Amino acid sequence: MDAVESSSFSGKLQPQAWMTAPETRKVMAALNEDGGEARFVGGCVRDALANRPVLDIDIATPLAPEDVIARLKQHKIAYAPIGLKHGTVTAIVDGKPFEITTLRLDVLTFGRHAEVKFTDDWKTDASRRDFTINTIYATADGDLYDPFGGIADLRGGVVRFVGDADKRINEDVLRILRFFRFYAHFGRGMPDAAGVKACAMNAKQVSKLSAERIRQEVLKLLAAENCTSAWLLMVNCGIVTHFLPEATNIEALGRLVNLEKRYECPPFPLRRLAALLEVTPSGLQHVITELKLSNDQAEQLSTMVSPDSKASLQMDERDVKKLVYKFGNGTAQSLLLLAGAREYDPDALKRLYHAAASFHAPAFPLRGEDVLKMGLESGPEVGRLLGWIETWWIGEDFRPDRAACLAKLKASMG
Ligand code: ATP
Ligand code: MG
Repeated sequence: MDAVESSSFSGKLQPQAWMTAPETRKVMAALNEDGGEARFVGGCVRDALANRPVLDIDIATPLAPEDVIARLKQHKIAYAPIGLKHGTVTAIVDGKPFEITTLRLDVLTFGRHAEVKFTDDWKTDASRRDFTINTIYATADGDLYDPFGGIADLRGGVVRFVGDADKRINEDVLRILRFFRFYAHFGRGMPDAAGVKACAMNAKQVSKLSAERIRQEVLKLLAAENCTSAWLLMVNCGIVTHFLPEATNIEALGRLVNLEKRYECPPFPLRRLAALLEVTPSGLQHVITELKLSNDQAEQLSTMVSPDSKASLQMDERDVKKLVYKFGNGTAQSLLLLAGAREYDPDALKRLYHAAASFHAPAFPLRGEDVLKMGLESGPEVGRLLGWIETWWIGEDFRPDRAACLAKLKASMG
């Protein structure tokens, strides 16, 4: 929170690289000229105040969407009118997107869809947002406007709904998951009691959310350092059971997060999800569907929870090399961290983890054409033979060179 100077009323956000970047200045200048007004809002202001990296920039303005578009056109700034119905125009400068949303109130909300009414009142716009920490605005120069005490809440680690928690959840149930996501990232100490109570009361409704929205929130939550206490809270409030009943192994998640810290591994949400899961193959399929994981994500998660690829701290270095050969260094390290989260043996983990990090798996020295050159017709037999030699080569600790593999091949063909 060093970024705030307390010289002005709500304070000032010290200039940030993303605020002074030429692309940002260009968009802000277009909106601010000729009596226009625009302020940064939401995640970018919150994250900057919390000294976290800012990933995307949201801008709020009392200008009507048509006026925003006219100004962008006038300044030759490309834009996409996605979300225009809700007053959002995305400006794009040098490939960087800026979401510009006209101040609004949500007249009627039903999930992610809202019937909106535009306004020129900043506080009205703030009151339709979810949590106080997400209602902080900053001008292009960094003057802060904080109508609901979001800065103090951010400082105190309090995630608090704007207005009545139960009412806000019933407008959009996703806010339950967002409550725990923001608690995982910014919360300190006890969570806000009114928020927890309202989330618990409405827990059942989480099952109505779309897979995409659930996935996004779950993966963002699991990226947080404090994900374990947030997830535990979510289990205790009876929420997890309504969308991911398999994901309850809190102890394993806690141990995994500690191991990641010890080994200086960046957080990897899917690995954390794998730690939480206690699943049969059909349970795993349910998780993949429930979160609508991409093929790539589904494959990574399956590898990390499947009994066939499970690592154990009972393994020796040779087993670890096999793991690296089959899955690559990164996945082998993940499998060992997960084993470490299940079995407590720090010395064994340290030894095996370093073995997984340092082994450069060699390429198998033979190819199909080597078999064909020996006179075998192409067909399934070629692959079978090659696989057999490869298994032998792996069993010999990857030591036999090409000549030795060819000799073995020759011998095996009689
Ligand atoms: P991040 O970008 O890190 O996910 P964010 O807070 O910027 O976090 P966005 O989804 O980009 O989240 O939304 C921008 C802002 O819009 C939020 O800060 C909040 O003020 C408001 N907002 C987003 N989703 C909701 C919602 N479901 N209900 C109410 N307000 C919301
Ligand atoms: Mg954002």
